[in-house]
Amino acid sequence: MEPLPAIRRIVMLGPPASGKGTQGVRLAAALGVPHLSAGQLLRRSVAEGDPYGLAELLSKGELVPDELMYALIAPALHDGFILDGFPRTATQARWLDEFLDPRGWQVQAAVEIAVDSGALAARMVLRATHQHRADDRPEVFLHRLQEYEREAPMLRAHYGRLLITVDGLDSEDEVFQRLLGAIRARTPAPAGRSTARAGFDVESVAPST
Ligand code: AMP
Repeated sequence: MEPLPAIRRIVMLGPPASGKGTQGVRLAAALGVPHLSAGQLLRRSVAEGDPYGLAELLSKGELVPDELMYALIAPALHDGFILDGFPRTATQARWLDEFLDPRGWQVQAAVEIAVDSGALAARMVLRATHQHRADDRPEVFLHRLQEYEREAPMLRAHYGRLLITVDGLDSEDEVFQRLLGAIRARTPAPAGRSTARAGFDVESVAPST
């Protein structure tokens, strides 16, 4: 079995219904780090009595104010994470860097799952029939998609050389293998081998299981 990459702090980017949640959960299990979903944190808060009054924002697909996002995300961050749905804007990305830097927990990779909007619409219809999310109604989904497309160029620019773009069409397994392969390819080989690439000061390690 190939060794797993020792990259353990990843942000997942990608439009709604791109599969970043599903892939994020699998990646977290494979790397042995927690999966933190911003959307799930928010939906849980709504389900637990909605102390911050978020239900309406979420049902309209509007972004939750930054200060609240920071207050919810900060306590959940540790030296390993797959962060899904955060950051969604370059402002949030800068906040994240400023939070992580002094702790030595810098983001090591930003994975964007790329899916064209036609395929996304089909997935949204399917998901809406299974999960009944208020924000999967067509007009709200479109709004979330536009929101993503507006912010994505800034996020891509922010992450620069840390960005890994993975084609998100094809089966869940195929996308996952592609994702792991792309992360491995960015991980330098252990000292003494000449295939190391620039950008990551991490080592490959054997899986812990
Ligand atoms: P998601 O499950 O990631 O699609 O997120 C569902 C909804 O939660 C989004 O449409 C936003 O309303 C809100 N949300 C999720 N992440 C963020 C974020 N980083 N900043 C602001 N709002 C967010």
